[in-house]
Amino acid sequence: MKEIKKPTETVSIIGYNEKGNGTFLSNGMPWEISNVVEKDVAEVDINYKNREARLIRIKEKSPYRTKPKCPIFEKCGGCQIQHMIYSHQLEYKKRIVEELFKKTLKKTYTIKPCLGMDNPYYYRNKNQMVFGNDPKLKVISGFYVEGTHKVINFDNCYLQDDVTNKIVATIKDIMVKLRLSAYNEDRKTGLIRHVMVKRSFSLNETMVILVTGTEVFPGRNNFLKMLLARHPEITTVIQNINPKETSAVLGNKEIVLYGKGYITDCLGGYIFKISSQSFYQVNPKQTVVLYLTALKLANLSKTNTLLDAYSGVGTIGIFASSLVDKVISVELEKSAHLDAIENAKMNKIKNVRFFNDDATRFLINMARRKEKVDVVIMDPPRSGSTPQFLQAILMIKPQKVVYISCNPYTLVNDLQTLIKDYEINTIQPVDMFPQTNHVECVVLMSRVKE
Ligand code: SAH
Repeated sequence: MKEIKKPTETVSIIGYNEKGNGTFLSNGMPWEISNVVEKDVAEVDINYKNREARLIRIKEKSPYRTKPKCPIFEKCGGCQIQHMIYSHQLEYKKRIVEELFKKTLKKTYTIKPCLGMDNPYYYRNKNQMVFGNDPKLKVISGFYVEGTHKVINFDNCYLQDDVTNKIVATIKDIMVKLRLSAYNEDRKTGLIRHVMVKRSFSLNETMVILVTGTEVFPGRNNFLKMLLARHPEITTVIQNINPKETSAVLGNKEIVLYGKGYITDCLGGYIFKISSQSFYQVNPKQTVVLYLTALKLANLSKTNTLLDAYSGVGTIGIFASSLVDKVISVELEKSAHLDAIENAKMNKIKNVRFFNDDATRFLINMARRKEKVDVVIMDPPRSGSTPQFLQAILMIKPQKVVYISCNPYTLVNDLQTLIKDYEINTIQPVDMFPQTNHVECVVLMSRVKE
């Protein structure tokens, strides 16, 4: 017997759930669907058995939709929400945070409006492009198409600084001229695997990192000469050798081919050394907004001891140093830790002590020694903190905890432990990554238990 096909339904998108999917009601029941914008009218196919809805087409476009600037937006996958007008992107991110807090912490919290940028394009100070070979164009560079090792080629990314875009395009051109091919992962032949460019917007310094599969670099001197002639703004060039079959971009071995091997950036009046390997925030304008937001919420005083956990190159501790008695910073990566020490020296800051340790181990030891801190600012990686770290905080009993998070999912998970003794005072999203679905959030908590 022929299956009777249920007619499709026309629905209005009423909001977003914690995953960022659009929501709508059908027969009084809530449904979710991806790739839609609030106020879209969409034709959908609802599968009641599997509780799944499928988008057929947008019948009426939401006023929050806009034409993406980037011609390869849909193919590339590097950004996800360029089709939303910017003010709605900010609202969207706020809504995701709101829903996540509600779902996980079982309470409706007030979320502050997401702090956005005046110009939400070309904001990244760093790019990272994978190189590949193409029969027609010879050398291509871009991102991997999601879930594959196929490179989508482009010269202009609307999120990356224009200078970094142009340098990568030049490198492709030079490679073709010098008859160099990109690294081939399967055959282990060819030269360049990735190119990373890091810029200091404030001091106009530029670092180019050429990641190669082997140390042998045919035509290296010519390559350098041609690159520097076309981009006098380049202040240092590094060859990083990564022979491994790995998703990590950088290998361990590096040769400085030109300049001092690092760049310096000025952020909020402080200077910071940026090396090839250390973590450094990619949106410098919003980094200042983020740090000043965190410090304002922390409301530090001159008698305070502050713990800056997951401190990277020491930026937050250095920003906070003049507001407190002393700062204790802990960071796992050796290179970031060494940069942090040098950064404090360069800024003539003497009240920050840097520890190169796992933040969890460090905090457990602090708790064992019954050491006290008044305020903790924690800024863990996307995976969040650990249960033991959070337990140690409960034992150390700081008055305030400021949690800076680039992943609201792990944030709300971690908060579940902290809310035993802390109340959530402020939740402030900051848009560090316009056009993408990444959500950064600062949460202020204060201790309620004696
Ligand atoms: N606060 C810094 C860095 C945040 S990124 C800034 O704003 O720039 C998170 C940092 O945590 C990275 O520098 C990473 O190297 C570090 N990290 C990751 N796991 C860690 C761990 N277990 N212990 C301490 N630091 C860790």
